[in-house]
Amino acid sequence: MAAVAADLLAWFAQTGRDLPWRRSGRPRDPYQAWVAESMLQQTRVETVLPYYDRWLAAFPDVGALAAAPLDAVLAQWQGLGYYRRARHLHAAARTVVADGWPHTVAGWRVLPGVGPYMAAALASLCDGVEAAALDGNALRVLARLSGEEGAVDLPAVRARLAALATSLLPSGRAGEWNEAVMDLGATICRPRKPRCGDCPVRGHCLAAASGRAADLPVRRPRRPQVVEDVAMAVALAPDGRLCLQRRPDDALLGGLWVFPDPARLGLDPAAGWPLLAFTHVFTHRRWRIDGRLHPIAVPPPEADDLRWVRPDALDGLALAAPTRRLLAAAQRAQYIW
Ligand code: SF4
Repeated sequence: MAAVAADLLAWFAQTGRDLPWRRSGRPRDPYQAWVAESMLQQTRVETVLPYYDRWLAAFPDVGALAAAPLDAVLAQWQGLGYYRRARHLHAAARTVVADGWPHTVAGWRVLPGVGPYMAAALASLCDGVEAAALDGNALRVLARLSGEEGAVDLPAVRARLAALATSLLPSGRAGEWNEAVMDLGATICRPRKPRCGDCPVRGHCLAAASGRAADLPVRRPRRPQVVEDVAMAVALAPDGRLCLQRRPDDALLGGLWVFPDPARLGLDPAAGWPLLAFTHVFTHRRWRIDGRLHPIAVPPPEADDLRWVRPDALDGLALAAPTRRLLAAAQRAQYIW
């Protein structure tokens, strides 16, 4: 076991990725590590890098984030997807300002948006807590190393791999170990076409020894996606204002501004002028969106979640991706400027 850690850490010392959130030295800065881990969930490093830099410029520390209005936070996240992560960061920042930074896995878990993987990663990186961080990357590496043939999304198999991960943790160097596993999974032990010839732990790897590297890990078949038909009304008032609706916080695209369902404005969905039909994909759901322009003579009144906004004043709102697509279509068709 110790030989695996020694080989991996020696490789990491030579080739570990130079990432902006790693430049604070060890232990890692909790704010930077937490923002980075939040952005990296479901998102590739290359995509995250420019968002991370802009975020740190806008909210350089947890106090600045806690003091910012939610709309400014969501606007900063715009385009990164899975907006719940931004709302969680904002809410958790206020808790941290009030109570201080957590120093244990359990302490991190209390913050909204911090699951078992992130809590273990942050506690190990920021406080040296001896905890193995198990995300999809780490599970893949461990399943291959141990030749695990069970489906990694089964609890019993996860428990086996978690026990293996804990047994591999080098004493006093859990943060480095977790980062090394992240880098190995991202650059060498990739989901497809693992580069076993360049792998620092090949000599310990059962999957490579049996020629099964590309076949592991095994997963259960995915749930089929739910498909929903969604009508969106680009409602245009005589003075050029557009109607936008804020999604409920606990819904898909929660907290973001979308063009409303025509029914909300008392409009016949079929009566508008076809503007753009497209698909918006979530993790387990797919919206088939029918966006239509509805010129309105008498705009319905505003409400808590409903606003009439001039097109040149939209920049201050956190717009959902479908909203931006429909806006672009309306501009191309010269319905709005
Ligand atoms: S030898 Fe291949 S399968 Fe095994 S850990 Fe390294 S890259 Fe992954």
